[in-house]
Amino acid sequence: MNSRRDFLQKLGLSALALQLAPLSGWAAGADNVEPPYDGPLLRVAILGLGGYGTMVAEAMRKCTKAKLVGVVSGTPSKVKAWQSKYGIPEKNCYNYENFDNIKNNPDIDAVYVITPNGLHHDFVIRTAAAGKHAICEKPMAVNAQEGQAMVDACKKANVKLLVGYRMHFEPKTLEVIRMRQSGEFGKIRFFQGQCGFTIGDPTQWRLNKKLAGGGSMMDIGIYAINGARYMTGEEPIWVTAQETKTDPVKFKEGVDETIQFQFGFPSGAVASCLSTYNMNNLDRFFLDGEKGFAEMQPSTGYGPIRGRTHLGELNLPVTTHQTVQMDEMSEIIFNNKKPVVPVNGEEAVKDLKIIDAIYLAVKTGKKVEVSL
Ligand code: NDP
Repeated sequence: MNSRRDFLQKLGLSALALQLAPLSGWAAGADNVEPPYDGPLLRVAILGLGGYGTMVAEAMRKCTKAKLVGVVSGTPSKVKAWQSKYGIPEKNCYNYENFDNIKNNPDIDAVYVITPNGLHHDFVIRTAAAGKHAICEKPMAVNAQEGQAMVDACKKANVKLLVGYRMHFEPKTLEVIRMRQSGEFGKIRFFQGQCGFTIGDPTQWRLNKKLAGGGSMMDIGIYAINGARYMTGEEPIWVTAQETKTDPVKFKEGVDETIQFQFGFPSGAVASCLSTYNMNNLDRFFLDGEKGFAEMQPSTGYGPIRGRTHLGELNLPVTTHQTVQMDEMSEIIFNNKKPVVPVNGEEAVKDLKIIDAIYLAVKTGKKVEVSL
């Protein structure tokens, strides 16, 4: 998975460089060059210096409105390495025991929690108690009840809670949403979301119920759920789901290998999705309306995202998702900017309620009604 993602990331960055080269040349000679940003910088500490935390840190080098200034880690050697790599001062370094002291640090605005899913809840609650804004990776929690507690804690502490839904800032995704909103697809009838890869090492936390909260559904099925919502612009009112398990040793009780699930929407539109840890080449969205369609493949990888509609290929800039996400989050936190698709805790609780309903539908074999 990592090597696939690394490859996609490299592809994304080089495509970005190619795309920006002629653009910046053009802008240099133009009158309408944007003035350099001189607003507040969102000063972020990353908590959990693993694979994705590293990717976010690298992407943040290019941010103009946010900056990596601190770390929280259980691994002292990583802290040292990150300090020298990103110029992080000793006073902005914490471990999981002394993390609560961050409340006395005026040089950190937000903590970005990038740990295994099962730990998000406690770390976000501690972040809120320290009076810092919380940014949390997906899935925000392992069930809706935990997620709601996180929303409540952040509200009570008067800090923002945002979730790393990087696709909510991706240009081709936003273009499809714009086309749907302006009626270019006509009445939406169907969404299909397929998310999957073959997972390796059986000892990793993603296959540990306590740390992951489930299996593929928690990790990547959530992209299809979230995509079904932002692509159709509707919230599901019922869910059905079926699980297939071919390897009960690797995928233990409570860790789903493959789940197919279906949604019904108030308009009568339906969705059919698949989430799996046991198939490759699955990263595809398809949206069908009475007047047209959109197909995205890859639809949620690190990029470049590719998409076409009934009108042809979508040609929009390739971005580094995490760079844009962090700059936009700075705007959300400091200027109350409203993104086209929300990335707040309430949005994440909706996804978690749907995940709860999917697991219930698998268990009971029944159609489960959802109210978001
Ligand atoms: P990793 O295993 O690579 O890193 C997790 C880090 O969390 C560890 O390196 C460690 O950092 C810290 N940690 C704290 N406690 C534990 C523990 N008990 N077991 C393992 N690690 C622990 O995971 P990822 O970075 O791939 O995933 C982290 C989160 O990011 C997940 O919620 C995942 O869903 C999300 N993610 C989101 C992506 C996106 O595109 N939005 C993509 C990939 C992941 P340290 O050593 O510093 O303590």
